[in-house]
Amino acid sequence: MNIKSNPLRQPLLALLLAVALGQGAALAQVPAAPIPLQAQPARQSASAALAPMLGATKAGQRIVAVGDYGIALLSDDDGKHFRQAGKMPVSSTLTAVSFADDKNGWAVGHWGAIVHTTDGGENWAIQRLDTQEDRPLFSVHFFNAEEGVAVGLWSLVLRTHDGGKSWETVQIPAPPEGGKADRNLFKIFVSPKGSLFVAAERGAVLRSDDKGQTWHYLNTGYKGSLWTGLALADGSLIVAGLRGSLYRSGDDGKSWQAVDSGSKSSLTDLVQVDKRIVGVGLDGVEIESHDGGIGCRRQWPGAFFPARRGRADACQQALSFTVEPKNNQETNMKIFSMLIDGQPIAARTTFPVINPATGTAFALVPAGDASHVDAAVAAARRAFPAWSRTPDGERQRLLHALGAALEAHMPELMELVTLETGKPLGGLNGVGAGMEVGGSIAWTHVTADLELPVEILQDNAEARVEIHRKPLGVVGSITPWNWPLMIAIWHVIPALRAGNTVVIKPSELSPVATARFVELANAILPPGVLNLVTGAAGSEVGPAMASHPGIDKIVFTGSTATGRRIMAAGAGNLKRLTLELGGNDAGIVLPDVDVKAIAPKLFGVTFHNNGQTCACLKRLYVHESIYEELCGELARIALTTVVGDGLQAETQLGPIQNAMQLAKVEELAADARAQGGRFLCGGQRRAGAGYFYEPTIVADLTDGSRLVDEEPFGPILPVIKYSDVDEVIARANQSLNGLGGSVWSADLVRAAELAQRLECGTAWVNEHGAVQPDAPFGGVKQSGIGVEFGRHGLAEYTSIQTLKIMKS
Ligand code: NAP
Repeated sequence: MNIKSNPLRQPLLALLLAVALGQGAALAQVPAAPIPLQAQPARQSASAALAPMLGATKAGQRIVAVGDYGIALLSDDDGKHFRQAGKMPVSSTLTAVSFADDKNGWAVGHWGAIVHTTDGGENWAIQRLDTQEDRPLFSVHFFNAEEGVAVGLWSLVLRTHDGGKSWETVQIPAPPEGGKADRNLFKIFVSPKGSLFVAAERGAVLRSDDKGQTWHYLNTGYKGSLWTGLALADGSLIVAGLRGSLYRSGDDGKSWQAVDSGSKSSLTDLVQVDKRIVGVGLDGVEIESHDGGIGCRRQWPGAFFPARRGRADACQQALSFTVEPKNNQETNMKIFSMLIDGQPIAARTTFPVINPATGTAFALVPAGDASHVDAAVAAARRAFPAWSRTPDGERQRLLHALGAALEAHMPELMELVTLETGKPLGGLNGVGAGMEVGGSIAWTHVTADLELPVEILQDNAEARVEIHRKPLGVVGSITPWNWPLMIAIWHVIPALRAGNTVVIKPSELSPVATARFVELANAILPPGVLNLVTGAAGSEVGPAMASHPGIDKIVFTGSTATGRRIMAAGAGNLKRLTLELGGNDAGIVLPDVDVKAIAPKLFGVTFHNNGQTCACLKRLYVHESIYEELCGELARIALTTVVGDGLQAETQLGPIQNAMQLAKVEELAADARAQGGRFLCGGQRRAGAGYFYEPTIVADLTDGSRLVDEEPFGPILPVIKYSDVDEVIARANQSLNGLGGSVWSADLVRAAELAQRLECGTAWVNEHGAVQPDAPFGGVKQSGIGVEFGRHGLAEYTSIQTLKIMKS
């Protein structure tokens, strides 16, 4: 690498850095309200069949399927092989497709997109696109080459008489139970007589007998979402949807009977194949009726709909019937892909990502397995020779471009971070999603500018001895759920900067901001340089990476227990390791402080992100002379702290990120009570949805109780009294962990001397947990191995080669 200075060049960068460091400027970055997602960047995929396909139909003998990334696939051999359409002008998800004949077809999707083909799906042109609002269309039907109807979010009904040159919006009546006509309309199906039906949200079916001009409601009696429907030859109607619900009407929709579908998984589409009715749904579920589906109700017992699980393969491969879970606007489901060798990759199944503020799923992510790890590692190995030889300046340019792409997508990334972690957009002292994304941008730029110059040890008449830094090869990055995007950046950017290629696996609890980051990066980096594999809870993805012979180094941030497993698994090929593990950081407050002045700061460094930060203050030792006063101040601040949904502008603390962590905090609180802890505030979870827990201060505990000795990783702080400073340093050092520690005092010299006696990777005076991209950060003892950030962190992604050139 070249020798170059490393300035924080632009004012913007300095501002972002301030955000990253949690300084007040962060608030200026944070918008007041949730921000809608931006349209996705254009992407043409060579192996597009791996992207989820959401709708399919026949155009003459041809099968045409559409799906994620605006991909359209065509098969002329009854589905044996598919190729990608030639021209598709949209890049957002397409949900459905309809052909009037073998040439004229229309596909609809997100951003209200309607695209049209006149050559059987080879080339498409935009007829409608809403650039202001992502109001997706979910279904489309054309009666002939002129007349068609499309439906979508919030009762959106569009109609055309001229082959889609113009579309009129049709108003549908208010629902029978009153209120606005704002149901989501999911699927159009048509009876043999030409009546139009729409399966809709809240158990409704809509009907139109005049090609979509006027509509009325049919009431199934069901209250959940109906995602699909089918009209049979005898006029019978079947609708199906949420959690395996299935209803049938034999009297033209006047009355409906519930049918046991045999499935508890949601059903997303139904199709008639000869005399069979086949249904498909979430979890790869497939159901079927053996009697052709024609007949009275008694011919439809549950036995005729045996749910056949474990058929995901068949379900995914039968493309004309495959229905990946649709973007269900009832839960605002977002769908993500893995990324391997520059291509979006779906797995056989997906897993849901939970918004901790509501406890419900908001996104679906592919459940990858060891075969995806193999594919990703192979891609990264292929990409390594060219990337490692790419000139330094070019790698820097690409990484700065990546930083700029993150910045351009800051609102979108912030929303994803808030949805998946619960942390507020703004947050306590500006520590929230704004800081996470702002910090990621700053770290990217600063790390891109880092240099590891050639060192010259000797240069005389006899010989010249140089020390070179060389990339290691393929780096595997495994990240935790608490700061998913920021930690991904901390791993990926220095690895790439040094010339390595990367396979990253985010936590299954918060994978989506990372997925989007990798997608943005892949629009900039060569294929295979950065790959993403996602795995469901307890999947083989993490262990497969840890033991993979094709991975040269693992950089892991997470719990100490997992770190030990990764270290053992990596022994096979002597993997290089950077392990950033758990901490149980102590803060020591000396008697000379101004209690009122430091209390808000102490509260901030403990409770930001709900205490779910590795280097948060987690044990607070306070001198007996100021103990009660400081305890009271901290409790007062806790009681005025606003806890709520992170998407709300006023929220300072969001929910705990996941149910397991909430249970752990509750368990530690119960133990603290049993040990005689005095709860000054909080001490309980909030009733209602989401994983909310009141910020909690517990006095009168001492070392030996679980809340003091274990890392709580939640919004609960034990405040411990001490009288002797030497003794308290020894108590702080008793922990097996050694990530960070702090001393708080008006006497900076004495405080610095005491701080250096703490056994930890970073010691702060009158601060805690603040990190910066040019200063090394890491743990000692069982808090980890190695450091991140700055030149020292960058060096960990390299090996040393000594070059000795004899001159005589
Ligand atoms: P975790 O349970 O150890 O999980 C971290 C990652 O490891 C996840 O992606 C997880 O995947 C994966 N994983 C689990 N078992 C694995 C195995 N056998 N082989 C390979 N990978 C495996 O940690 P967490 O609960 O997400 O994070 C909280 C912990 O991280 C806390 O202890 C915190 O202190 C620590 N942390 C440390 C730092 C630091 O810089 N020192 C920073 C942040 C957090 P799945 O989720 O898919 O199981």
